[in-house]
Amino acid sequence: MKFTVLTLFPELVEVFFDHGMIGRAMERKLISGESINIRDFATDRHRTVDDRPYGGGSGMVMKPEPLGRAIRSAREKSPRAKVILMTPQGKRFNQEDACRMAEENQDLIFVCGRYEGIDERVHSLFVDEEMSIGDYVMTGGELAAMAIIDSTARLIPGVLGSEASPLADSFVDGRLEHAQYTRPERFEGIKVPEVLLSGDHGKVAQWRLKSGLTRTFLNRPDLFEQTRPSKEEKKVLLQWAQELKALAGESV
Ligand code: SAM
Repeated sequence: MKFTVLTLFPELVEVFFDHGMIGRAMERKLISGESINIRDFATDRHRTVDDRPYGGGSGMVMKPEPLGRAIRSAREKSPRAKVILMTPQGKRFNQEDACRMAEENQDLIFVCGRYEGIDERVHSLFVDEEMSIGDYVMTGGELAAMAIIDSTARLIPGVLGSEASPLADSFVDGRLEHAQYTRPERFEGIKVPEVLLSGDHGKVAQWRLKSGLTRTFLNRPDLFEQTRPSKEEKKVLLQWAQELKALAGESV
């Protein structure tokens, strides 16, 4: 699967392509990545990529011609690729999208805006999907493209290596993942929960289920609306509620 990023700051993306799991996956040819400078497709002496907005107002808008040429050139190298525009106005990207894109295994071309955004005609002529990474506005689309590439690429078989599995991650089953601990057993006076040292796999699984559910309840209760709690989950949550009640009773 190939990830191409069209940007005015290719160095930002190259660093990302060269490091960590993504860098290793590229070396092992599990994925490939390329960042392309949109400015290379400007034809005037000053390599202009932006201009003032029609209708007036502040800021600059990215011109359609260099962008159109950059997208066409990227498409020539990846003819089956889907073109994804980074914009805070797009559909909010989530884990489900990452799974879908990893499964589709279709090359992706990311268009990163800067300034006030890009000329609207680029949307209708070249773009297959518009994606946002959240309800906030950044100065450019590069971080958004890297977030999407990172979360998609790690789901491609082999990228995480054999020791890690993305199946237990937060959001995969509509819940947050359980708390994690590693050595030492005691840190700054806080001890690792006893059950995790017990070697009893059944009890560890029960503890992890409860840990993930209580974190979801406290931090992301909205996830229970999207995926209703199962019978077993309800049982665990009710038990937890009773423990809390007993605790509150004790302290009054
Ligand atoms: N004026 C635009 C608006 O209000 O919708 C925002 C433009 S923003 C300053 C410049 C570029 O950053 C956008 O074209 C887009 O590529 C990128 N960007 C900013 N926030 C983003 C987000 N939340 N998700 C994806 N891309 C984003």
